[in-house]
Amino acid sequence: MDFSLTPEQQSLRDKVIAFARAEIGADAAEHDRAATFDREGWARCAEFGVLGWTVPRAYGGSELDPVTAMVAHEAFAYACRDNGLTFAINNHLWACVMYIVEHGTPEQCARYLPPLVDGSMVGAHALTEPQAGSDILAMTTRAERVGDTYVLTGTKCFISNGPVADLFTVIARTGDGPAQGALTLFIVPADLPGVQVVRDIPKAGLRGTLMGEIRFDDVVLSADHILGAEGRGYQIFTSTIEWERSFMFSAAIGAMRRVLDMSVRHAATRRQFGKPIGAFQAVSHKIADMRVRLEAARLMLYHVAWLKSQGRMALLECAILKVFATEGLIQTCLDAQQLHGARGYVSDLPIERELRDALAGTIYGGTSEIQRNVIASLVGVPAMS
Ligand SMILES: Cc1cc2nc3c(=O)[nH]c(=O)nc-3n(C[C@H](O)[C@H](O)[C@H](O)COP(=O)(O)OP(=O)(O)OC[C@H]3O[C@@H](n4cnc5c(N)ncnc54)[C@H](O)[C@@H]3O)c2cc1C
Repeated sequence: MDFSLTPEQQSLRDKVIAFARAEIGADAAEHDRAATFDREGWARCAEFGVLGWTVPRAYGGSELDPVTAMVAHEAFAYACRDNGLTFAINNHLWACVMYIVEHGTPEQCARYLPPLVDGSMVGAHALTEPQAGSDILAMTTRAERVGDTYVLTGTKCFISNGPVADLFTVIARTGDGPAQGALTLFIVPADLPGVQVVRDIPKAGLRGTLMGEIRFDDVVLSADHILGAEGRGYQIFTSTIEWERSFMFSAAIGAMRRVLDMSVRHAATRRQFGKPIGAFQAVSHKIADMRVRLEAARLMLYHVAWLKSQGRMALLECAILKVFATEGLIQTCLDAQQLHGARGYVSDLPIERELRDALAGTIYGGTSEIQRNVIASLVGVPAMS
């Protein structure tokens, strides 16, 4: 078993860190305060190639293998101070772009991937509904077949990138039969008649990613808007969600490392009772635990990347990674806040923002409770109905 990075991977990692530190994230506090999307930062990321690391060269990407791409995304998340921008990129990539990479026809790939890679299109994924959160099979959004077309009607909520999206991947009901076979995945351009952002949704953290409620009112879609095939939406969702539940959480590992760095610096420089506070075991052990969580989460992340590079399923490993990395990041942020004292609570330092950003991780992409259900059923506990 070889845990080392190749010279090419190390060089890419260093370049990504240098780029993200120098070119983006300087206005993170302002984007957080005003809840604004950093369009300029987005364009710079696209130009640097961030939006195409996992996309085939034929469509403008750089076709990195999963392990190398994970190295690059973790480095990006570590060095980009704007978690909102990182989250916008992650939603675009893992819940929109990768659906098309994995399940698009050559025509769909040629039409949508180049603008998604060059940043001229922003992607979003519309799954959740007011009455269908964890229980996605309860969804009521319908795409009714009318002749050669489908007519899409329904409301999706909590959609990241929704207010700025140019393209949605939408899961809708196309049948009344057994629930899983009744769902279909559609590519829906935001400029089609009937697509409407009905509400911007304010939130506690990740405020540099805009969130919206989206209504689809009699949106007419030709059959070439279907991803995969009619009735395959649930299967495509459950296979592609592995990207979302693994690569998306490279961001948690990057953030853990950034918060650890800040905590080490503070423990070494803040003096009380004539000593750096790091000399007190109650402080230094918090930092040791941060490092333990970072190390363990990173190993889980790279294990998943390796499984993906072997073309193997990683449903169990993704669920374990998601629970551990997101809950670990929250604990790391709480510990960092405590050891920074008042400075961790006020907005002069980014610690309180890191904590607000971290809190959402146990909710989106399937809650911690749902991940534990998945883990329990995959290790043999009788599945819930
Ligand atoms: C920051 C953020 C970004 C998001 N982005 C998107 C997006 O881009 N696209 C999109 O479609 N959705 C998005 N969502 C929505 C997200 O996927 C849902 O919030 C999530 O699936 C949970 O659904 P819910 O909020 O309706 O909670 P509910 O399903 O109502 O759950 C409420 C509570 O009950 C628990 N619970 C429910 N069922 C069970 C069960 N069977 N066993 C144990 N516990 C259970 C849950 O774990 C949770 O604690 C986003 C959410 C957030 C916070």
